Amino acid sequence: MTQQVEKAVEILKEQGVRMTPQRHAILAYLLESMSHPTADEIYKALEGKFPNMSVATVYNNLRVFKDAGLVRELTYGDASSRFDANVEEEHYHAICNECGSIHDFHFPYLGEVEMAAKEMAGFQVTGHRMEVYGVCPDCQQTKSH
Ligand code: ZN
Ligand code: MN
Repeated sequence: MTQQVEKAVEILKEQGVRMTPQRHAILAYLLESMSHPTADEIYKALEGKFPNMSVATVYNNLRVFKDAGLVRELTYGDASSRFDANVEEEHYHAICNECGSIHDFHFPYLGEVEMAAKEMAGFQVTGHRMEVYGVCPDCQQTKSH
C-alpha cells in the first residue's frame, strides 16, 4: 500500500500539486483505509495529528485528489459523500443497512449491461451504477449475540 501512496504522490507532482504533511496524511489514510470514508471521518482520524487542520482542508484536498483522478466521489442522496481510492479496478459496492459500511466486490459480467443500453436504447453510454444492500458480516455477528 505504501507503494500506492508513493505512486499517487508522483502523479500529483506531475500535475504540479505541492505535497504538504497534511495532504500526504489524507492521501495515505484514503489509500490505506480502503473503507470509503467521508470527509468528516478523515478529519476525525487525523485531527489528533494535525490540530490546526479543518474539515474544509480535508474537503479541499479531496477535491484536488478527485481532479487528479486518484479518488472517486460516491454520492448517496442527501448523505455525506464517501471517497473511494480504488479507481483502478472496476468494482461494485455492497452497502450495509445497519452501519453504512461499504464493501467492494467484483462482478465483471455486468459490463454487458452497457452494450445492451447501447444496442436497445441507442445510448452513447458513459457509465453505470449498481449497488447491493444488506447486512455486513460484522453487523450479522452483532445481531446474532
Ligand atoms: Zn454493517
Ligand atoms: Mn470501492
